[in-house]
Order: sequence, then C-alpha cells, then structure tokens
Amino acid sequence: MTYSKELLTNVHKHCRNNRKDIAVSAVCGCFYCLEIYPAAEVKKYTGVVDAICPKCGIDSVLADASGVEISAPFLIAMSERWFSDAEDEPA
Ligand SMILES: [Zn+2]
Repeated sequence: MTYSKELLTNVHKHCRNNRKDIAVSAVCGCFYCLEIYPAAEVKKYTGVVDAICPKCGIDSVLADASGVEISAPFLIAMSERWFSDAEDEPA
C-alpha cells in the first residue's frame, strides 16, 4: 500500500485543532512514535486543542473521527513524509 504525497500532506492538518475529533473517536494513532491507542488515552493538549500523544509527548496525534486511516502502514507513511524527509536536523 502506498499513499500519495498529497494525501499525506492533507492529513497533517488533522493533528492540529483535533480535540473535538478525538472526543468522538474510538482510536487514535501517533505518526511520531507510531503507537495506536484508544482515544480515551489522549489527555493532554497544547494550545488547548492540539492533542499531545500520551506515549511520546509529541503533538502528532491523528483521530479516526477525522476521517483518517489509523493503521500502522499509514502512520509509517506519515512519519516518513513529515519526520524523515528533512535534509538535516534543524540547527
Ligand atoms: Zn507518539
């Protein structure tokens, strides 16, 4: 299964302002640590509405109610798009 770069780019917005989606989701996944867990485990938010991953503390949480696929292959694709593409570590 491959995912288009366009899809991976579009999905990124769902890790922002996603508190309402998480409240009605069953499952969430983090594309930083690649963990998948019940939405109820998400307790913390940054900027009030951006979910923070309960596993790694990064605000890279996606919720199924956002219409996003929560699966290991998809999270890996997201991770590669957003965390591995960088040419260099930020200075
Ligand atoms: Zn995480």
